[in-house]
Amino acid sequence: MNQDAPQADDGRPDSSARCSSLSDLASEIREINEANGWSVLRAEDWSDRYKVPGILALVHSEISEALEGFRADDRENFLEEMADVLIRVLDCVGGLTADFDSVVRAKLEKNRRRSHRHGGKRV
Ligand SMILES: [Mg+2]
Repeated sequence: MNQDAPQADDGRPDSSARCSSLSDLASEIREINEANGWSVLRAEDWSDRYKVPGILALVHSEISEALEGFRADDRENFLEEMADVLIRVLDCVGGLTADFDSVVRAKLEKNRRRSHRHGGKRV
């Protein structure tokens, strides 16, 4: 960890000083993962029938870990696992688009126009 980086009150690095977009965060995540020896998704991997489903299984595993954190009433662990979810998602989509922010913005606008509870769904 960079000791000169700004830090939040809890001692963790203050990422708000350097994170400006989901796409920037995706690039940083992919750099870190590659530096740590992990393979990252490439645009051409979209045609592979197993790579994206494998990543989605890993996203699901992080969701399950978050659920276990919630079940244990461990908010810190829950938040860390939710961060893992976001990291895995951004690692994946960062290989498919350089502008995931626009994708999210477009979906938010679509959601804004949807009906109350999306047509009366319970959850
Ligand atoms: Mg995890």
